[in-house]
Amino acid sequence: MDAKTCLQKLQFVGVLAFATVDEFGNPQIRNISAIHYEPETMYFFTAKGKAFCKELLTDGRVQVLGYTKYKEMIRLSARAKPVKEDEQEHWINTIFDEQPYLYNVYPGDTRKLAGIVFQITDAEIEYFNLGVKPIFRESYTIGNGRISFRGYEITESCIGCGRCLKSCPQRCIESGNPYCIQQEHCLHCGNCYEVCPANAIEKRG
Ligand code: SF4
Ligand code: SF4
Repeated sequence: MDAKTCLQKLQFVGVLAFATVDEFGNPQIRNISAIHYEPETMYFFTAKGKAFCKELLTDGRVQVLGYTKYKEMIRLSARAKPVKEDEQEHWINTIFDEQPYLYNVYPGDTRKLAGIVFQITDAEIEYFNLGVKPIFRESYTIGNGRISFRGYEITESCIGCGRCLKSCPQRCIESGNPYCIQQEHCLHCGNCYEVCPANAIEKRG
């Protein structure tokens, strides 16, 4: 798996959930399908009058979530930026040509007045596949995106009792000194953290 394949999979999903933060700090989420994909960039269309647009212009943070029929969760965490003014028409037309239903929504030239295209060029991409055994997760970046480490890790305080391994639904802990979590197979369920008698397991992030 890699970032480019994740974007291709999102393209197959089609309709994605876009989460933003409003002026009161509340989460807001919408389904968006007016999206164009380049190998490492995502472009999407909305209307300038929508609260979604205001949130993107004032805050910019966005999470984009897709779920495939193979039980793969793909999530982008990024900041969206409007494309340059002199490129707006090109990207609006590109998205409308790929999604012709939009010509019914914004007929004639109304799309140019109402519309705005944002781009995501720098993002963290989380891939989480629950359809394989053991489960698989990995993170990637596009542009200047950064990976945020999450989940759990075992520290040198481990006394080697083995309780964490017995409680792990994915059996993704290797014995050793100290024991070690196979991060790519970890659910982030926290069972190991709960049972460790030595407080040797720390949350990451
Ligand atoms: S439960 Fe804690 S002390 Fe025991 S093996 Fe796991 S990490 Fe080490
Ligand atoms: S968080 Fe859950 S899945 Fe991950 S190592 Fe601990 S028990 Fe296993």
